[in-house]
Amino acid sequence: MSDPITRALDALRRECIDEAGEGALADYIPELSRADPSQFGIVLESHEGDAYAVGDATAPFTIQSISKPFVHALALEDLGLDAVYARVGAEPSGEPFNAISLEPGTGRPANPLVNAGAILTTSLVRGGFERIAAGLSAFAGRPLEVDEAVFASERRTGDRNRAIAHLMRGAGSLRGDVDEVLDTYFRQCALIVTAADLAVMAATLANAGRDPVSGARVVGEETAQHVLSVMAMCGMYDSAGAWMLRVGLPAKSGVSGGVLAVSPGQFGIGLFSPPLDATGNSVRGVLACERLAARFGLHLLHDA
Ligand code: GLU
Repeated sequence: MSDPITRALDALRRECIDEAGEGALADYIPELSRADPSQFGIVLESHEGDAYAVGDATAPFTIQSISKPFVHALALEDLGLDAVYARVGAEPSGEPFNAISLEPGTGRPANPLVNAGAILTTSLVRGGFERIAAGLSAFAGRPLEVDEAVFASERRTGDRNRAIAHLMRGAGSLRGDVDEVLDTYFRQCALIVTAADLAVMAATLANAGRDPVSGARVVGEETAQHVLSVMAMCGMYDSAGAWMLRVGLPAKSGVSGGVLAVSPGQFGIGLFSPPLDATGNSVRGVLACERLAARFGLHLLHDA
């Protein structure tokens, strides 16, 4: 561990183990409560494809809500900004991720990162689950697979998402077959990733849509910019505002304990630690990002 970046990440990881609060595992999807709360990995991937990893960098977990910005990217690639925006807004909702709240009259969800908006966005992508799996795999630079146990667990217990989808269908904002869309959505949430994968996915956004390792273009520059804008406003559940104040980077977290943050033009970071705070964000993941941002002047408005 001779390079200074890995040493800094390792020191940060130790501090967060000692100093972060306890948090709790998500249990509303029963299978997620079986996670090992002590796992903690941090990976930084530069826009040139150099990776720096500490801790449980290759421990597998399901991507959950971190799939949402990437599926949004695929919808933007398929339909363009105006057509996607007409169906799903881009306003921070200030409400929990699973809120049953749609624009009066139209049934349009607030943004693509709350469950309602994510389910609708999934329905917009051409090619169903296969396209989504291929698209997210392209972002990660390797083929991603589904955790069938987590998929089945969420499918069995996902009544709230089912209710949201039926409301949108009733309002006319969600078109197509509700069960089919939900199966695709639950499957996309159950794709298995590691902190190292999240770092590559983040670095691809940091690199304006090009995989920094292979150089392959995954999505267009404009798509990367639109996705990062929505992540900056709505990525961290109902503490997105506090996150922007303290960290100041576009980011997205998920209920299994993943956090992905992007320093545009510089690098992506993937973190994994399952215990969550009251707003649903990884306790250690948030503290690590706050300290990284403060220590290295990463806030987007640092030089403003
Ligand atoms: N599959 C989860 C759900 O829709 C994702 C939630 C999350 O990570 O926020 O409830």
